[in-house]
Amino acid sequence: MAAGGEGGTDDGNRGGGTGTEGGGGGRRGEGREGTARPITFVGAPVLHRPCREVTRFDGELAALVADMFASMYAARGVGLAANQIGVGLRVFVYDCPDETEEYRKGVVVNPALVLPAPGERNLADYEEGCLSVPGQRASLPRPDRAAVHGFDVTGAPITVEGTGVLARCLQHETDHLEGRLYVDRLPADQRARILTAYERERDRAAVTG
Ligand SMILES: [Zn+2]
Repeated sequence: MAAGGEGGTDDGNRGGGTGTEGGGGGRRGEGREGTARPITFVGAPVLHRPCREVTRFDGELAALVADMFASMYAARGVGLAANQIGVGLRVFVYDCPDETEEYRKGVVVNPALVLPAPGERNLADYEEGCLSVPGQRASLPRPDRAAVHGFDVTGAPITVEGTGVLARCLQHETDHLEGRLYVDRLPADQRARILTAYERERDRAAVTG
């Protein structure tokens, strides 16, 4: 997910470093042993189909996770799913504030999302953005708490409970692994507007270099 502009949540704080993430790099020291890889953008097939379960918790997985942290920090995101660097495996990383503004960081392999029961949900509204749809944001209501069950990089079971932006991030990243982008949750006309704006900016950037 893009880091928030004012109140954003998502995997990438694109807007130039004014977001909630702590100023573009000072705080986020980790992932140094990994290598940042190019981010995949909306339209890439790997983003639009479900990812595969991880079955081997080996050095290759650890290297992938290190690259994912490096890629997330390079892109100034607060969360990143493996298919956002072109790898169709069920893994995401995050370094994201919760409702107390405290940053929490980790990796979840083979996540299963758990939301409060429908009667107990509070929906939070937030300007969400995504590293794979750079430059765009949209208000999207989501439950204000969420948890994921999954595994760490060694295969040990873990549970991550999130509030605030982290709750949104857990949902956003799990969506990625199902082949779903946040824009897919928007009304069709709004989704189309955002994708058109994204393409226009991308093409303009290509022309101007
Ligand atoms: Zn995203």
